[in-house]
Amino acid sequence: MKSIAILTSGGDSPGMNTAIRAAAKYAFSKGVKVFGIRRGYTGMLNDDIFEIEPKDVSGIIDRGGTMLLTARCMEFHEAKHRQIAADNLRKREIEGVVVIGGDGSYRGAKNLSDEHPDIKIVGIPGTIDNDIAGTDNTIGFDTALNTVLEAIAKIRDTATSHERTYFLEVMGRGSGELALYSCLAGGGDGLFIPEKGFAMNDLADVINTRRKKGKLSDLVIISEGTGSATEIAERLKNKINSSVRVTILGHVQRGGSPSAMDRILATKLGAFAIEELINGKDGIMVGIESNKLTTYPLSYSWENKKVIDDKDYELAITLAK
Ligand code: ADP
Repeated sequence: MKSIAILTSGGDSPGMNTAIRAAAKYAFSKGVKVFGIRRGYTGMLNDDIFEIEPKDVSGIIDRGGTMLLTARCMEFHEAKHRQIAADNLRKREIEGVVVIGGDGSYRGAKNLSDEHPDIKIVGIPGTIDNDIAGTDNTIGFDTALNTVLEAIAKIRDTATSHERTYFLEVMGRGSGELALYSCLAGGGDGLFIPEKGFAMNDLADVINTRRKKGKLSDLVIISEGTGSATEIAERLKNKINSSVRVTILGHVQRGGSPSAMDRILATKLGAFAIEELINGKDGIMVGIESNKLTTYPLSYSWENKKVIDDKDYELAITLAK
């Protein structure tokens, strides 16, 4: 393989730059030329493609966001536009593409690779949601988790000073992973995730009983996929004997310098993706399960839903009470 290209697509996540750096440097070490595609599939379609040189990936290992920029591209849903995108790759003799993103980006990648078998594609899971089956963690999840933990510590200070109950909404679209592990690691006093719904229907009683025993504040964690924290707080506030506040963390969870765990994950997966391309693999995603590098067909990511670990969930609920 003489030339490959890298793009980041869909929602950004901390560690995408680390993965770009690792993939590019690993490719250089194998004598492979590397191109960057700006704004995901939009750049592939609009021919916004440039050659990446070693200096371009120097100093980005610890930078949040993505130097390649990211976007959503509606045109890419149509085969005629994917044809133009494929031709833009061909004219530079690009034979392999590394797609860093979520399962939406993988769907686009799969269509491109099915229609244009001369272009090989490997996906790297990059999203803070940790919602991709076939890998224990996605790039950005650990950093986002640490961001939530910092926020929890700060909110708890003010919550305790005013003896309030806080409802904290964290990101996660349809996935409760970020909320669950924020609750476990941050000592949440209540948890709602989309996979389990409103399992804590006795939450108001639990909070009131705890308060009688001397607890000064509560911090209930809500995954955005369960519903809005504002609405949930509104429903419960008349049953709770303390004053209630809501904090929606929002996009702060997407930014920041990647954590050590995310940098290691991104570095290993970036290099592995290139290795697999050089070995002729196509239409696959790379991941790490139980500390072992793994590959699955891209379709595995949407044909299988990442399952919440029931034991971890039960533990979070037990300790939240
Ligand atoms: P994520 O990768 O974070 O899940 P999206 O679901 O927004 O993000 O998908 C990112 C991009 O992938 C879309 O904007 C589109 O360009 C492309 N894409 C998603 N689904 C398809 C599909 N079925 N066919 C072609 N391209 C797709």
